[in-house]
Amino acid sequence: MNFLVTGGSRGIGAAIVRDAARAGHHVAFTYVSRAEDAAAVEQRVRAEHGAGRVQAYRMDVGDSASVEEAGDRILDDFGSIEVVVSNAGINRPNLLVHMSDDEWHAVISTNLTGAFYVARYFLPSMVGQRFGRFVLISSLAHRGITGQANYCASKAGLHGLAWAIAKEYGRRGITANVLVPGVFETDMTRSGLSMSNREFWTQYCPLGRLGQLDELSKVVTFLASDGAAFINGQEISVHGGLDWAP
Ligand code: NDP
Repeated sequence: MNFLVTGGSRGIGAAIVRDAARAGHHVAFTYVSRAEDAAAVEQRVRAEHGAGRVQAYRMDVGDSASVEEAGDRILDDFGSIEVVVSNAGINRPNLLVHMSDDEWHAVISTNLTGAFYVARYFLPSMVGQRFGRFVLISSLAHRGITGQANYCASKAGLHGLAWAIAKEYGRRGITANVLVPGVFETDMTRSGLSMSNREFWTQYCPLGRLGQLDELSKVVTFLASDGAAFINGQEISVHGGLDWAP
């Protein structure tokens, strides 16, 4: 199958790109600013899985014109997309009373509106082919965490978006599910996770550690497989047993 992974140049997205290629899929993925990181992911996947096709595209998911322009090129190059993984995300932590308009809108625009733009673009071709899988990458923060109201609201919104797609397009052979990761070591958590939150995680997670990237990416690949055909409109948690953060 052909995957599209948004934000595949680093972290969780890059792991999803690699795992999908390892499973024999062709993968288009996007980045917004780090072209060199995207090229490195392309090179690594081609070296590891030469037979498959992997291609990076610049796409700002928060800009509908950019989504449509890159989406056109992706469909031209790949012919079809069967699996969309909406993974691109940012955080801009601040206490709610100090949060600026820019901090609020940047996070909502990338994390939530971006997933909407991407779904709106790719759904018609999925309806035409009577098959599609959406996996939206949420966070434990969808239930609220301190100091990130913008991020929490964006992630909670993704659940509503997935449920809407699941109900509106299920009869066209399209499923949508939300993945709820715990904490994984990436650029986002290296810069955005406070030391106290990191200590909280390793102390209270029943597995006593952060997640490893392939423990998440393999679940995404499973959700695209035949075995997941009847899983629709669900929240799948991958957090080692700790479903709460302060
Ligand atoms: P990283 O910061 O490591 O990577 C973010 C990715 O998103 C990059 O590929 C980046 O591209 C891309 N991106 C950012 N803004 C845009 C944009 N406007 N348009 C297109 N792409 C964009 O993040 P993680 O890998 O840690 O997180 C990935 C997802 O997982 C996010 O949605 C995050 O909220 C979620 N998540 C992460 C957790 C964790 O523990 N790490 C826990 C729970 C959820 P570029 O390289 O060009 O900047």
